[in-house]
Amino acid sequence: MAKIKKIQTQFGKDCRISSLKGVKFIDFKNQNKISRIVAKEFLNSKNKKIIKKCIICRSNKIKPATTVLGIKFAQCKRCAHVFNKHHYDNNFLKKFWKKKGDIINVHSHSNQQKYRSNFLSKPKVDLILRYAKNKKNLNWLDLGCGNGEFLFSAKKSGVKPYGFDLNSRDVKLARSKGLNVFQKNINEFYEYAVSKNIKFDIASATGYFDMVNDPNKEMEILNRLIKKGGILMIDLPDFNSVTHEMIRGFPSESIRHLNACQRSSFTSKSLLFLLKQNGYKVLFRWHYGLDFYMIMNYLNQKNKYFQNTNAMRIMTKRFSEFQKIFDKEKGSDTLFFIAKKIKG
Ligand SMILES: [Zn+2]
Repeated sequence: MAKIKKIQTQFGKDCRISSLKGVKFIDFKNQNKISRIVAKEFLNSKNKKIIKKCIICRSNKIKPATTVLGIKFAQCKRCAHVFNKHHYDNNFLKKFWKKKGDIINVHSHSNQQKYRSNFLSKPKVDLILRYAKNKKNLNWLDLGCGNGEFLFSAKKSGVKPYGFDLNSRDVKLARSKGLNVFQKNINEFYEYAVSKNIKFDIASATGYFDMVNDPNKEMEILNRLIKKGGILMIDLPDFNSVTHEMIRGFPSESIRHLNACQRSSFTSKSLLFLLKQNGYKVLFRWHYGLDFYMIMNYLNQKNKYFQNTNAMRIMTKRFSEFQKIFDKEKGSDTLFFIAKKIKG
């Protein structure tokens, strides 16, 4: 009898928080401001419709989940998926990502980007490559690749880097790094890949499947692009986390997640459902996140003088240790899976 292989699991990721994110009152305030601006855009959008079926498993058994800055989220009783209660017009979304997407991206400056690439992207790239069976001439596709920060790390490992994104400024930046990045959606990118006869050994999606209207449809197209035995990395926010509990408790000061532009907030149950339904087997899960940063956020937004306290100094300095407790308790806010395409 075949042995059932357990999913490999890893806990914690060292993080120098002050190099990754702002830790001053104004940084938290600005992130909150961005969440508010985005929420307002979506609340004012025309032609939105209420979603009546779960966008992952199509069940019609749905209950209210939470409301953040006026944006309502619903949860499927069957697969536990959480999603924005409204379906927004495609033209609105396209316009939002082309222009307004910029306001979401402005908060990381260049020294933060350097840290991100060395300390955050590279460990992930190395990990993914460990699971890719043939190590030479690999084609790598990054879905919704942004400015190509992650893809650039992949390129340095010797793979052929491809990506697409709707934000024009990001695409320009990515192309300036020598990456094959296009201002296209997945459909348009698929047409391009077919015309060039390109198939992929590896695909990565950071904060992508939670942003698209129909994750199953995206998966279907991705499945035509990725080879059998190919590797898919998915990295997105986990609704069942300390961070999301805090946002639900204090929605008016929320930052980072349950943003209006998020179409979905996955749970591990709903992400596993999506992967299994589309022919993937999960090989690896990593528990890490920035939940402790959310505690720092709320304390700082409550009192702007908190940024100068010894408490804040200690929390900033020992961030990784505090966060590791949430990781080990499986309460952290990132769903990070590496899966293998085993069907079709
Ligand atoms: Zn469902």
